[in-house]
Amino acid sequence: MYEVTVEAGFSSGHYLRNYHGKCENPHGHNYKVRVTLHGAELDASGLLLDFKLLKHVLRPVIDRIDHQMLNDLEPFIELNPSAENIARYFYDMTNQQLSEMSAGRVRVKDCTIWETDTTTATYYE
Ligand SMILES: [Zn+2]
Repeated sequence: MYEVTVEAGFSSGHYLRNYHGKCENPHGHNYKVRVTLHGAELDASGLLLDFKLLKHVLRPVIDRIDHQMLNDLEPFIELNPSAENIARYFYDMTNQQLSEMSAGRVRVKDCTIWETDTTTATYYE
């Protein structure tokens, strides 16, 4: 199998519902996201997927939440914007597009969110 990864950052506000601790009050994080793709076959150019295409898919997903209050945006109006759920948001928003774009050759392996330099959450299926 081959893997490629792209990382990007965004800054968003959030607060956690049904939670007692530092994250229950509105505040922001400088998040980092890492999306890892995998697949068994390369394309005719010897690439799993051009990084440019992966960035092209990731950009609107990030732009939608960058400098926004996550709790005001779907799916976080109901769903708690925890690092775990944000990781799943990235997975759901990128996997189908990338899979279609590559005719099923490439899939998202996992998405990791850094909420701080030392804390991450990962989603995969
Ligand atoms: Zn927080």
